[in-house]
Amino acid sequence: MDRKLLLIILDGVPYRNFRRLFGNLEGWVDSGEARVWKHRAVLPSISASCYASIHTGVSPQEHGCTGNGNVFRLSHKDIFSQVRAGGGVTGAVTHSFWSQFFNRHPFDYVRDIEYDEPESDTINHGRFHTMTGYGHDNQMTPSDVDLFATLTNLCLRFGLNYGILHTCTLDSMGHRFYHECDEMDHACFVMDEMLAPFIPRWRALGYEVIVTADHGQDERGHHGGRGPLQQETALYYFGEAEGPDADHVIDQLQLAPTILGRLGAPVAETMKAASFLR
Ligand SMILES: [Zn+2]
Repeated sequence: MDRKLLLIILDGVPYRNFRRLFGNLEGWVDSGEARVWKHRAVLPSISASCYASIHTGVSPQEHGCTGNGNVFRLSHKDIFSQVRAGGGVTGAVTHSFWSQFFNRHPFDYVRDIEYDEPESDTINHGRFHTMTGYGHDNQMTPSDVDLFATLTNLCLRFGLNYGILHTCTLDSMGHRFYHECDEMDHACFVMDEMLAPFIPRWRALGYEVIVTADHGQDERGHHGGRGPLQQETALYYFGEAEGPDADHVIDQLQLAPTILGRLGAPVAETMKAASFLR
């Protein structure tokens, strides 16, 4: 496999926060380096269910993860398994749910916090965090620049074809402070500024880059249901492919086949949605 792509998931960012507060991403839309569309999450619009659908391309009603309290090793093929089947190298810098869904469950803090498994059928290079103890007053999230740097480190050391990064910072901020406040304005501003220098660096290494969220959040920081603020986020794409018209809404189930198509990896027979890039 000679193609490369990074998927950056900023947990819990509603469409309007991306569009009004992420000045670097929006600037690259204006300059033509990036394209942006609306991206609609599956239902329930809960993190674990969305992670599972993003990576398997099937709905929660099919993969069976009904929420954050129901995490297990999924049986469906996913982006990691298909990149491996296509001869590529995979990496993940994410919440531990990704390791549980796609490699092994339950999560063993010592064994699974960090691993390099070149022969794995799914995740070759994993760096995880569990957010154990997370609550309203203590986010238990790493600094985002540390996560961006860790992903870059894996790309440079192991030549990842596919890498995913996931961070819960903004989801936690939204649950804590809601959205019409200085704290959220600042949190989005800092995220945008921390992420920005890495994007040209990843592009220079030959990666296409997708930046999106798993779901949105409403004015009370809630998500899980059908409200547009809960279900809708933005998706930014940096790469050479052609995409749909600007008013197209990307279905979350399209991410897996789209990413596999860009990498030249086999799309699993269970992934029925069409690619949004060509
Ligand atoms: Zn989430």
